[in-house]
Amino acid sequence: MASETVLVIGGGPAGMEAARSVADLGYPVLLVERRDRLGGRPEEEHYAKLTHHFREAEDMIRELVEAVTTHSNVTVMTSSEVVGCEGEPGNFRVKIRNGASAEEVTVGSIIVATGFQHFDPGRETQMYNYYTFPDVITIADLEGMLKAHQVVRPSNGQPPERVAFIQCVGSRDRQIGNEFCSKVCCGIASKQAIEVKQQLPDSRVFIFYIDMRMYGYWENEIYWPAQEEYKVNYVKGIVSEILPKGDRLLIRGEDTTMGRPMEVTVDLVVLSVGMEPSEGTRKIAKILDIRQNKYGYIEAGGPTGVDPVATSRPGIFVAGAASGPADLDDTFATAGLAAARAVATVRRLQLAKAA
Ligand SMILES: Cc1cc2nc3c(=O)[nH]c(=O)nc-3n(C[C@H](O)[C@H](O)[C@H](O)COP(=O)(O)OP(=O)(O)OC[C@H]3O[C@@H](n4cnc5c(N)ncnc54)[C@H](O)[C@@H]3O)c2cc1C
Ligand code: SF4
Repeated sequence: MASETVLVIGGGPAGMEAARSVADLGYPVLLVERRDRLGGRPEEEHYAKLTHHFREAEDMIRELVEAVTTHSNVTVMTSSEVVGCEGEPGNFRVKIRNGASAEEVTVGSIIVATGFQHFDPGRETQMYNYYTFPDVITIADLEGMLKAHQVVRPSNGQPPERVAFIQCVGSRDRQIGNEFCSKVCCGIASKQAIEVKQQLPDSRVFIFYIDMRMYGYWENEIYWPAQEEYKVNYVKGIVSEILPKGDRLLIRGEDTTMGRPMEVTVDLVVLSVGMEPSEGTRKIAKILDIRQNKYGYIEAGGPTGVDPVATSRPGIFVAGAASGPADLDDTFATAGLAAARAVATVRRLQLAKAA
């Protein structure tokens, strides 16, 4: 007999939204998260405000967690991982490990929502001295500082007077094999620049970029206010190195608009690190035997090539940043679609059985 349960793997924004949508459609959901709590990266990394509405991330995550944990159709398993899967749509036999114990469940369809991780800024050619200079941090590090209203130089605990963001760290870089654009970091850096100016109004903030990539409403709601209202300095340029200068940092590179070398001294450097598939995404792709693209993301497209949630295996769908760089709008859109497809899979089998 075909199972009508939908298994959702990953309890970040994509997994929670997918679980909520399936449950609201009246079908049972099993939501499996490897960490001991739901929330994904926004929770784990203490995001401050969100693009593009400047909503508190904590409120958004709390609402999602409440929606799934109070829904009678949703069963949540935390500190758990899928370690095996065989079968076909309607009858996937899945092994789930929780600590020392393991259990086998039968589900009708599966949604993978295992997300992303940050590019490691110490890797290969991207030598920005992240691991050497304490005042070189990433956008993920800065989120936590902004949330705590504690934007300081880690080296001395003092608020920085001059802050510089460096864009495209680990993205759009052929040498390291990440040719893709991570899609969110221009918007996030600009949003963080506004938050820095709100919390430290006397600071000067620079953003060094190759070209700014803003999508839809991010342009008018983040980029222009950052420039016009908050006087953030956008500098089109390529940074070649970061060096110590007294107790500050010297950014050296080329101002490509002016076509000349540039040197800027700052107190805090923020690296806009790109997205890569999470280790959990790489691992689950192998366990479920679904195709990955050359970057390790789960390949979406399906037989038509344009279905953003279909994987190479029928009955298994993907949502959020597990299939490529995604902002929250993308994440929720694919989560809703994956939920619809997962429910349609089990419903079709039920109807066929009843006929
Ligand atoms: C610094 C920063 C700030 C950002 N701010 C914004 C913003 O303001 N606005 C915006 O639109 N976007 C923002 N984003 C993008 C946003 O974080 C992503 O769109 C979103 O987190 C994607 O959600 P997800 O659920 O797909 O992945 P994730 O958030 O990565 O969640 C994946 C979940 O799956 C779990 N998991 C992984 N592997 C397994 C496994 N094998 N088994 C079980 N569970 C597993 C993980 O523990 C995690 O809970 C930001 C990104 C960064 C880097
Ligand atoms: S969003 Fe901006 S910073 Fe991020 S990879 Fe694309 S162009 Fe570079």
